[in-house]
Amino acid sequence: MLNEDICDTMIKMAKDARMKSYSPYTKIKVGACILASDGTLYGGCKVENGSSSLSVCAERAAVYKAVSDGKQEFDAIAVVADTESPFVPCGGCLQVMAEFDIPEIVMANLDGDIRVMQLEELAPFVKYMGVNHVKERYEDHFNVFEELE
Ligand code: ZN
Repeated sequence: MLNEDICDTMIKMAKDARMKSYSPYTKIKVGACILASDGTLYGGCKVENGSSSLSVCAERAAVYKAVSDGKQEFDAIAVVADTESPFVPCGGCLQVMAEFDIPEIVMANLDGDIRVMQLEELAPFVKYMGVNHVKERYEDHFNVFEELE
């Protein structure tokens, strides 16, 4: 379980990242903060695109930033938006969190409402969807190349 100080720090950092959110289309600013297992924190903000499917959520931006910096083990991720109840990550982000086994998700809003949940609690089957499907697909892909040799 996350201690309260780290949780507060993550929410503060997610709020700071939220201010950098590029959200000209939805006007909804979202920020995130991921805690690597070595204690390093990375902020991430939502980056929208005119072609909406190319937009990247704040949570994924934070994960990709950390992975790009060489981190692959994480303890938790926090996400903050100006919503009525704590902001809940989308299914795509949950799948990315499953890929890196991020166990704890801190969801918050600007009113100070906070909800902490385990990934399994929020999306019980997401782990199996990501890992198994992708792995099987790549194994098939590699088998095709082996047959060609
Ligand atoms: Zn998302």
